[in-house]
Amino acid sequence: MKTFLLALLALVSTAVAADKIKVLIVDGQNNHDWRTITPLLKTIIEESGIFTVQVDTAPGKGVENWQPKFSDYAVVVSNYNGELWSPSTQEAFEKFVSGGGGFVSVHAADNAFPEWKAYNEMIGVGGWGGRSEKSGPYLRWRQNTWTPDPTPGRGGSHGSQHEFLLQNRAPEHPIMAGLPAAFLHRRDELYDRLRGPAKNVAVLASAMSPKEKGGSGEEEPLLMAIPFGQGRVFHSALGHGVEAVKCVAFAVTLQRGIEWAATGKVTMKVPAEFPDDKASKARP
Ligand code: ZN
Repeated sequence: MKTFLLALLALVSTAVAADKIKVLIVDGQNNHDWRTITPLLKTIIEESGIFTVQVDTAPGKGVENWQPKFSDYAVVVSNYNGELWSPSTQEAFEKFVSGGGGFVSVHAADNAFPEWKAYNEMIGVGGWGGRSEKSGPYLRWRQNTWTPDPTPGRGGSHGSQHEFLLQNRAPEHPIMAGLPAAFLHRRDELYDRLRGPAKNVAVLASAMSPKEKGGSGEEEPLLMAIPFGQGRVFHSALGHGVEAVKCVAFAVTLQRGIEWAATGKVTMKVPAEFPDDKASKARP
């Protein structure tokens, strides 16, 4: 009887796991503390209840033989900013996303691979790594619309970390539907002056980068959705450190962005503790 019950339990949990969306986190190289951040991302993603999460960690040096099985998953979340992947891994990743897979870029993942054309099309805009006007335009908020700006200059910078107000720029988009018109995000780096191909980028949320904090003085796109072939990309420039990652606004937009990248829909309800424009909210 006990064996039977255990077998039944195993069968039920397998069935439940099979219904869940398979997420792969890639990490292993980053100028940020990925060893601390990846487990936090994994917890946030698993807590939604609709995902299973695996992590594939690249070697700290020498990635030529590293070949994650992207095609085993519905969506890949990158916490990786390091050596360029091998040609075969790049090819497998492009095929995965263009064939309908989901991709989610978190914070410094948009610093990665300035030389990889398809990757930059996926993230829309990125920073550092020698990015400049040669990488593509900035996206600037002009006359109530996001406008490519080819002005020469660096790609990627940020002022001092602070708490900031995110503006919901696409309340009709599945990721942003039901979220407030503006909501506070805990202390984080506010990436500014990102630039890239910037093709078909739907800016979901932006924040003013104040000059008095060393920023650009511009409204900066920080959450984005980008189609790539048959696939979907969610780009969150948020999440520098523990304080930022332990923010309800970061976590909920990440969960919703991952579901959308995987399926094109968002079924998750907006939690009651989601912040408004008066107070930011920390996760437990
Ligand atoms: Zn950072």
